[in-house]
Amino acid sequence: MRNENVSTDSTSPNSLSPTLSQGEREIAGLALPGLADSDLICAVDVGGTNLRAANIDRGGRIHERVRTATPGSKPAEEVVSAIAATVRECESGGAKRGAHIGGISVVVPGSVQVETGVVVNAPNLPSLQGYELAHALETALERPVLLENDANAAALGEMWQGSARGYQTIICLTLGTGVGGGIILDGKLWRGADGTAGEIGHTTVEPFGVIKCKCGNTGCLEVYASATAIVRMAREASTRHPSHLLHSIAADDLTSERICSAASAGDELALDVFRRVGVYLGIAMANLVNIFNPEMIVIGGGVSAAWELFAQHARAEVLKRAFPVPAQRCRIVRAECGGDAGLLGAAHLAFANDSGQKPSTKKRVY
Ligand SMILES: [Zn+2]
Repeated sequence: MRNENVSTDSTSPNSLSPTLSQGEREIAGLALPGLADSDLICAVDVGGTNLRAANIDRGGRIHERVRTATPGSKPAEEVVSAIAATVRECESGGAKRGAHIGGISVVVPGSVQVETGVVVNAPNLPSLQGYELAHALETALERPVLLENDANAAALGEMWQGSARGYQTIICLTLGTGVGGGIILDGKLWRGADGTAGEIGHTTVEPFGVIKCKCGNTGCLEVYASATAIVRMAREASTRHPSHLLHSIAADDLTSERICSAASAGDELALDVFRRVGVYLGIAMANLVNIFNPEMIVIGGGVSAAWELFAQHARAEVLKRAFPVPAQRCRIVRAECGGDAGLLGAAHLAFANDSGQKPSTKKRVY
């Protein structure tokens, strides 16, 4: 649902909330001013294509939503303006029914140094690379803004409101245009020393692979288990199998959804593509099982719609390669939050970091 009345008023009552300077942000780490119980979080998911925002309450209910195009090819300042506009639109929508936005939490498709609010790496939004996004948003919106990686947020969203409810040690894989990963250990998001942890899509699963990944490596999981990879693998295989259903589709119109439909109709080539996706995923997951001993691996993203076509192969690979005890324990399940996982995780992050204290004394929970 899109709110029709876009607010251009940047001087909301919340604009009196303190804005963190870069120095204060580094000292405080993650911080939001104390939230009232009824406060909503405006969560923003900045995708490579779509920019989505939603007001979310403490119970995980999504209220107002806003969706627009991400000006991904434009300079960072324009991305900031677009994010700020969606936040104001959400705020305006909430205000009409008396709701108050207590915090803003933004997730982006890239590595984030949470303490400084800097985007470290963002192949799908190159203008944000190295950019102090949180600080720029705080200046535009005149209040603190949390920043997180989108796949990390998706893992938190699934733990809070999705298939990992009640679990503490989980790994979430998001299979979309790329492959995102999020690791939660004992209930805490594992960010690593530089905020770059969880890049499971860029772990090597094919040492002899020649397909170059966007990250510069070859043989990454992402080039064997993403929607992009599915289309490429089908194209590669079609030259070896002249008689199959996919031949009726023009090369430019080939999508992972169409390959999924062909596989569901019994097409051998398409079935083999998804078998390969499952095997590569299973190799990556077997490594994760041996390293982290997770209770659950959650698989989401658009490709998870083809669950029945690849999950059995992935499971078989995990059982074949990982130690028996952690392999048997680890549940491998489909995500439940769909496209809202990142938004929910962003909101959860903000609620979890609210201890009712001032930013300078607040402890970081995640
Ligand atoms: Zn890679």
